[in-house]
Amino acid sequence: MTMKNIFLLLVAFVTLGCTASDQPDSEPKKPGNIIFLIGDGMGLSAVSTGFYFGDQPSVFKRFQEIGLQQTSSALQKVTDSAASGTAMATGTKTYNGAIGVDTTKASLQNIAELLASMGWSTGVVATSTISHATPASFYAHVEQRYMEEEIVVQLLDSEIDFFAGGGRDKFNRRSDSTDLLSHAAEKGFTIDTTGLPAPGTLSADQKYGFLPQAGSMPKMIEGRGDFLPEATMLAISHLSQNQEGFFLMVEGSQIDWAGHANDGDYLVGEMLDFEKVIAAALDFAAKDGNTLVVVTADHETGGLALGPKKPAAGQPGYTNYAEIEPIFASGDHSATLIPVFAYGPGAEQFKGIYQNSEINHKMVALVKGE
Ligand code: MG
Ligand code: ZN
Repeated sequence: MTMKNIFLLLVAFVTLGCTASDQPDSEPKKPGNIIFLIGDGMGLSAVSTGFYFGDQPSVFKRFQEIGLQQTSSALQKVTDSAASGTAMATGTKTYNGAIGVDTTKASLQNIAELLASMGWSTGVVATSTISHATPASFYAHVEQRYMEEEIVVQLLDSEIDFFAGGGRDKFNRRSDSTDLLSHAAEKGFTIDTTGLPAPGTLSADQKYGFLPQAGSMPKMIEGRGDFLPEATMLAISHLSQNQEGFFLMVEGSQIDWAGHANDGDYLVGEMLDFEKVIAAALDFAAKDGNTLVVVTADHETGGLALGPKKPAAGQPGYTNYAEIEPIFASGDHSATLIPVFAYGPGAEQFKGIYQNSEINHKMVALVKGE
C-alpha cells in the first residue's frame, strides 16, 4: 500500500466515523409539553418594536431556531385569523371565516383535541373574547367565526382544562337568554368572573375558566395591566400538574387590532406585553427542559414599517433618520411571510420556509416521535 492510499483510507475512515457519530443527534427530541404563543397580526416589524421601544433587550433575542411561514388560506391569498388559526391548530388550510372546519365544512381534529386524547391537559388564553377566532380554533368547530354564542357552548363541552380571557357576555348575556355560567359546574368547570388567583392555588383535578371582562380585555394603553402574563403563568402552573404533558395556546390578540387601527402606541403596548408572556414561557421551558415553545403570528396586520421620523403634517423640517416611528401601509391584513421562533426539544424542526399548516404537522410529528 502506497502512502497516498493509506492517506485516502484514513480520510475515508475519518469521514465515515464522523457521519456515524453524528447520526444520533439528527433524531429530533420529543417534547413533553408545548406552549404555543400567537401574536395576532404580528409581522416582523411588530417583532422589531421591542428592539427600539422596549426598555430591556428584546425577548426574541433568546431564540436560536427561526423560520418563516406562509399564511395564505385555502381560498384567499390574504388570510383572516380564523383560517390561519385553523390551519395551525388542525394542519389543514381552509376558507377565511372557518373555525375548525375544512372547505367542505367538515370538522377537523385540532392539536388540543389530539393531545387531550393522549392524556395531556390543554388550555387557551387570550386578550380578546375567549370565543374569538384564534382561541376558538383550538376547541371549536363552526362554519363562521361570528357564531361566538355557539363557540362558547362548544368550549364548555370541550376537553379544554383551563381558559382565561374576555367575553363573559357570550356566556351570560345571550340572545337565547340562557346563563351558561350557572351550568358550567355541570360541565366540570369552576368559573371565576372577578380576576386571577395566584399561581399554585388551583387543584389538579379541576377545570377552570377566568372571565374577568364582559367584552374583550382592555388595551394595554388603557390599563389592562399584567393580565396576559399572569394568566399565562397561572395556566402553566395549573396544567403542568399533569405529568402526561400539557398544551397551552396564548394569544396576544390585540396586536392585530392596533394594526387595523394604525395606532403605533397601541401596537407597541401590546407587543411589550406579549414579550412578557414569551419571557414567562421561556423561563418555564428553560427550567423544565422538556417543553417546546413556539412563537409566531397568524398573519401580519397594517403593513407596519418602522420608518424614519417625519415632520408633522404641514410642518417644515426634514425626515429624521436618527429617530423612528411606526408607519402603516394599510388597515388590513397582509400576505407577508411571518417569522416562527422555537425553543426547546424539537425547536430545530421549525427552521426553513413552510406553510402555516406545517406548524401543526411539525408539532404532531415531534410529540408522536415520527
Ligand atoms: Mg385573534
Ligand atoms: Zn385582524
